Amino acid sequence: MAGDCIFCKIVNGDIPCSKIYEEQRILAFMDINPLSPGHCLVIPKEHHATLIDCPSDLLAELASRLPAIAQAVIAVTNADGYNLLNNNHRSAGQLVDHVHFYIIPRKQGDGIISHAKPSPYAPGQLEKLTTAILAKLKSI
Ligand code: 5GP
Ligand code: ZN
Repeated sequence: MAGDCIFCKIVNGDIPCSKIYEEQRILAFMDINPLSPGHCLVIPKEHHATLIDCPSDLLAELASRLPAIAQAVIAVTNADGYNLLNNNHRSAGQLVDHVHFYIIPRKQGDGIISHAKPSPYAPGQLEKLTTAILAKLKSI
């Protein structure tokens, strides 16, 4: 529990939420500021700030529940599709520092999340990055 964390307060029942799924270590609830009807959040109850802070067994448990939660949300909202989104750090839009996954129901042409513009590599940059990431991953 992090004292000033909104999602920890939700987990503890100090702040109300519209709960859609709960088990021992996982909670899912409706987002207060939805990007589309049915937009919900799936979180571990334990406080971890970002994806890489979260223990892998807990992350695996959370991930294993995502398909069923998404399936229910999509069926109820009659969505054509959905985005699964996980923001990490301010530069990527994370405002609540308790790891969370959005499920955002989508309809054809809704324009909610537009296609990002590709940013092509400079000559040699792709090869350099690939080699560096391969090496880095071996040390993690
Ligand atoms: P972030 O920008 O950190 O990736 O996403 C945080 C999400 O949490 C936002 O979509 C925001 O609407 C939602 N949120 C923030 N505070 C509350 C709250 O008190 N209750 C609920 N249900 N959602 C919240
Ligand atoms: Zn928290």
